Formats: sequence, C-alpha cells, structure tokens
Amino acid sequence: MESDKILFADAESSFDYAEFAILGVPFEGTTSFRKGTRLAPTSIRKESYNFETYLFDHGTDLEDVAFHDMGNIKCEGLEEMMGGVGDEVGRILQEKKFPIIVGGEHSLTPPAVSKFGKVGVLILDAHLDFRNKYLNESNSHACSARRVAEHVGVGNVLILGVRSMEKQEREDAHDLGLRYIHANRVRELGIKRILKDLLWNRIYLSLDMDFLDPAYAPGVGNPEPFGLSPLDVKDCINVLAGKLVGFDVCEVSPPFDSGNTSSLAARFVRELIASVWNTR
Ligand code: MN
Ligand code: MN
Repeated sequence: MESDKILFADAESSFDYAEFAILGVPFEGTTSFRKGTRLAPTSIRKESYNFETYLFDHGTDLEDVAFHDMGNIKCEGLEEMMGGVGDEVGRILQEKKFPIIVGGEHSLTPPAVSKFGKVGVLILDAHLDFRNKYLNESNSHACSARRVAEHVGVGNVLILGVRSMEKQEREDAHDLGLRYIHANRVRELGIKRILKDLLWNRIYLSLDMDFLDPAYAPGVGNPEPFGLSPLDVKDCINVLAGKLVGFDVCEVSPPFDSGNTSSLAARFVRELIASVWNTR
C-alpha cells in the first residue's frame, strides 16, 4: 500500500476495529477521452473535509462510526491495479468489513466484484460499458459491465441511467440478456419504484459518476448530457442500504472539475456509511 498523506475525513478507526474500509485506486490506464481519474481518490478525500461529522438526515454522527481509510493501492499498470484491488477487497471481506472503493476508472469494478461470491451488481452509469474489447483491451473501463457479468452471471447485473452505447453493445446486451434501464425511464418511473422490484438480498453498488447529469458532475472522464440527479443516487443508497455489501465510486476527473464532482462523490461515501450503519 502507498501511504497517502491525506485520509478521508473522520476515518479515525484502525483497520482492525473498523466496520467499513475505504480503499483508493488512483488508476486511469485505459481512459479513452479525458485523463485525470488517477487524481480522484486524493481529490475526493480533500473534499470530504467540507462536511459536518453529523449527518442530519440520518441522525448519525460519523464520529460514532468506526471506519478506516487504507490509503491508495499501488497501480502503475492494469494488471497491478486489478491484482491489488482483488487482494485488498479479499482481505477486507475476510475481516468481515464493508469495502468502499474510491477510483479511479471503472475498470476497478470487475476485480472487486469477483471477491463477493453470489451477489447482485447494481451499476449506475450513463454508459453500458458492455464492449467485449476496447482499443484491443478486454479489461478497459469501457468493458467493465461485460466483465462483471462474466463474474456474477449476466442475470445478476442491472444497469440504471444508461443513455449512450455503440450499436454492437446494444446487440450483445440483447443477445446475452443484459438488463438495463434508460435514463429517461428512470426519471419517468422514479428510481425508488424501480428498486422496489429488485429481489437480490446481497447487492454490490457501483457508481460511475457520469450517471449524473454533467450539470451536477462536470468533472468526469466521459460526460454525457441528459443524466440523473444527486438525489437519485441518495435515494438509491438509502433504499438499498440494508442489502448492500460493497460499494465503489469511480470516473471522477479532477482536472475537469470545479470541485463539485469530488465533493459529491465524498458526500455519497458519507451517505453510504451512515445509511448502512443505521441498518445494523
Ligand atoms: Mn462506467
Ligand atoms: Mn460512464
């Protein structure tokens, strides 16, 4: 592990006593458009100091919750990143803690998910990320949902907020039976209503920040208009809290950010910790 000077706000617990463990993955090896996601874990940590320790909505003070920040893994290349994520997530789960992975690009999700055994994976993303290969790389962030589906079974994956894909991805999704719901449909039905029909009892939540409209989250690698709102993500976290077993937030790109995208990501991490903790 690389020791990073700045740790997530209020992550005062030692690893041994923590119920939640935060892992930074400063990786951008396969990003296709804008670079910068490798800077996100540190940027999100910095922004986390904006917020009160007390989460008014939950009546929870994060000073009362034991969570630990493991710092950033060393990830010069794709192989090293995937190996590191798998090893550390495996260790967190073995110690019966809840992993919170702060990316970095979306390619971190398959190695994380691979450690959970039987689990449903809910992905919030503007993109389908269902290419079999992208720029000759099968572990690209543009292939993350495809690889996740191979780990857990395509029937155990649901993607919400999609509004961009290539034609081949659409055909593959249809052929393989991947379920996804368009951003417009999520807006029309409301995310709570969609989640009510979700029958999984162990859920890994993967949040690609470009799920949000660029008006809320401009600092991402591949911004896509006509997106959803921070309250949709909050509702999702709140509704699923009792079933969540792991979480990642990825694709923040600080060079294109006013600070708001990192700030939102930090707030979602805090929301998740308080929500899950309150169900225990
Ligand atoms: Mn993605
Ligand atoms: Mn995306």
